[in-house]
Amino acid sequence: NKYGVPSRIISVEDALEIVPYLNPEVFIAAAFCHKDGKASPFKTVNAYYEAGRRLRVEYYTYTEVKGIVVENGRIHKVITSKGDIETNKVVNAAGAGARKIGEMVGIDMPVENYRHHIMVTEPFQEFVKPMVIRGKLYFTQTERGGIIGGIDMPEKPDQPLRARLDFLEVFAANLVKIMPILKNVNILRQWAGYYVMTKDNHPILGETEKLEGFYIAAGFSGHGFMMGPIVGKLIAELIVYGKPSVPIDALKLERFERGELIYERAVIG
Ligand SMILES: Cc1cc2nc3c(=O)[nH]c(=O)nc-3n(C[C@H](O)[C@H](O)[C@H](O)COP(=O)(O)OP(=O)(O)OC[C@H]3O[C@@H](n4cnc5c(N)ncnc54)[C@H](O)[C@@H]3O)c2cc1C
Repeated sequence: NKYGVPSRIISVEDALEIVPYLNPEVFIAAAFCHKDGKASPFKTVNAYYEAGRRLRVEYYTYTEVKGIVVENGRIHKVITSKGDIETNKVVNAAGAGARKIGEMVGIDMPVENYRHHIMVTEPFQEFVKPMVIRGKLYFTQTERGGIIGGIDMPEKPDQPLRARLDFLEVFAANLVKIMPILKNVNILRQWAGYYVMTKDNHPILGETEKLEGFYIAAGFSGHGFMMGPIVGKLIAELIVYGKPSVPIDALKLERFERGELIYERAVIG
């Protein structure tokens, strides 16, 4: 609340008005913020893509970065699967590929890729508007009406992106505890993606002191969709004006060497 987020603690009765069918026996209060929202990642990314095109941004899809040439301590060009791009500025926003991009310029990116599982059910009329979070379980409803959600499963880093059947058992058992009405719904599909984790669960942002022109926006630790718009704006401001409108120095790569970590405990799923 100190930073202007109007979240508040609400009673079980109020929670049931916001999300009907919650099991009142498994919680004694809830936290709720009426300004929170949700968005389709596909539509959001596509909207940014289209907006960029209107501003004449050029996109190179299906183009892999294979190497980055550094000469005399400055970035010279990027080698891609479809040719070279001369530039002295690069943003490492490669998600689960960020470590590899770092290696191309001799920078050790302190990130690890952890597989996370998620599933979606058959669709229903909308009745779960917010995202419901209980411990390491979360769920909400998609625009199409499916219940979508996940739960933390123990994983080692860099596991292949294959689905685990036991995730469904653990998730379903915990889901019906909080919303018993979902007991008989059909699951349509499950899949997995990476949480790109840093040691303090905060992203790495900004230009590194190790190489001029090498900017980083990676390691979003499972929360990068909601941070994407502001991070894009701030990194663009940093490149164009030399200074972002919100200070991001505390999130620089160098914080790990200096031992200036800022631990985020609210990692969901
Ligand atoms: C199951 C699951 C649920 C999640 N739920 C949420 C949520 O509810 N809210 C939230 O905020 N976040 C959520 N996240 C996290 C969110 O998806 C990520 O934090 C976010 O997508 C990271 O964005 P990014 O742009 O850093 O990486 P990405 O979206 O992974 O984009 C990186 C891009 O770089 C490309 N790339 C990589 N290497 C190369 C290369 N060598 N050459 C060219 N291109 C390359 C990749 O192909 C990719 O397109 C979830 C993640 C998972 C797995």
